Amino acid sequence: MTILRAKDLTKVYRRGSSEVRAVDGISLTVAAGEFMAIMGRSGSGKTTLLDLLGCLLRPTSGALEIDGRTVIGASDGQLATIRRERIGFVFQEFNLMPTLTAIENVMLPLRYGPRRPRGRTDARALLELVGLAHRESHRPTELSGGEQQRVAIARALVNQPAVILADEPTGELDSATSERLMATLRDLNRNRGLTIIIVTHDAAIAGATDRVVRLSDGRVTADARRDDEDFVRALGTDVTAPALLDPVGFR
Ligand code: ADP
Ligand code: MG
Repeated sequence: MTILRAKDLTKVYRRGSSEVRAVDGISLTVAAGEFMAIMGRSGSGKTTLLDLLGCLLRPTSGALEIDGRTVIGASDGQLATIRRERIGFVFQEFNLMPTLTAIENVMLPLRYGPRRPRGRTDARALLELVGLAHRESHRPTELSGGEQQRVAIARALVNQPAVILADEPTGELDSATSERLMATLRDLNRNRGLTIIIVTHDAAIAGATDRVVRLSDGRVTADARRDDEDFVRALGTDVTAPALLDPVGFR
């Protein structure tokens, strides 16, 4: 089943008389349950593509379907509903509310949807899922970077989205913490069938996923799955790195 389908997706930013084609005609199909990475140098359009896929941005042109629904003609209100119900975002800087405890941060997205009487119970279950049951009453400053990112993942899951979009989620974390975070995401993908798309410029992170899409100047220059011959090349490494090819290498 296809969960995301982009066709000729384009985002042009205009600054005065100059324009930047941040995403320049990208077509991409993502099946439900995929665990994939979007790679590319800084400025290659990764964040713009992710924000388009997550309906945070409107494309300049092109088509986008989420779960079989066209989102191009949608109103702002309809886009907000699609975002809230279908998409969970995780950001590099965690973006937690400093005055709220871990569990309150996880519950935050519930404020904008229909009332959920079991919200606190659900939030507690998600903190447990990411291994943070014992940190429920801590505020972000009382948590390590890795713990904060786990709270952010629990928050992204609270509305039971179909897709998790994570923009450089390990960018602020050391490599051991990154590995644990990737193992958590892999478990969510395997055990809950969540579709997960991670933007990263780290080949070790991308190499732990099943599919790598590489961008350059807003275009797709490689799209390879783990079993494909060109998977390692898509990772941007010339050396064959067996560790990168071991899907459970992060355990
Ligand atoms: P990446 O995430 O791969 O570093 P981005 O998607 O952030 O790349 O940016 C792609 C290109 O679009 C860059 O040239 C960037 O300067 C430009 N860009 C991104 N956001 C904006 C914006 N809001 N206004 C103007 N240009 C932008
Ligand atoms: Mg970016």
